[in-house]
Amino acid sequence: MVQKFSLDSSKCIYCAGCVSVCPVLALTLNETKILCDEGKCIACGTCEKGCPVAAIKITKP
Ligand code: SF4
Ligand code: SF4
Repeated sequence: MVQKFSLDSSKCIYCAGCVSVCPVLALTLNETKILCDEGKCIACGTCEKGCPVAAIKITKP
């Protein structure tokens, strides 16, 4: 299975903006990483568009 969500952690500033805009609550923030529940993600691209530092890349399945 192709991974939908990928994060460039060298860009991410851990603002948690993506976590709050995800319509299906697929994203969570822990101390060091944004985690995506790939089973929940619908690849809508909302997090990718909203990220202020363009750290997220969404691949449509
Ligand atoms: S919106 Fe972007 S910078 Fe903010 S936590 Fe998510 S991936 Fe990181
Ligand atoms: S692409 Fe959409 S469903 Fe998937 S993590 Fe981002 S906001 Fe959530």
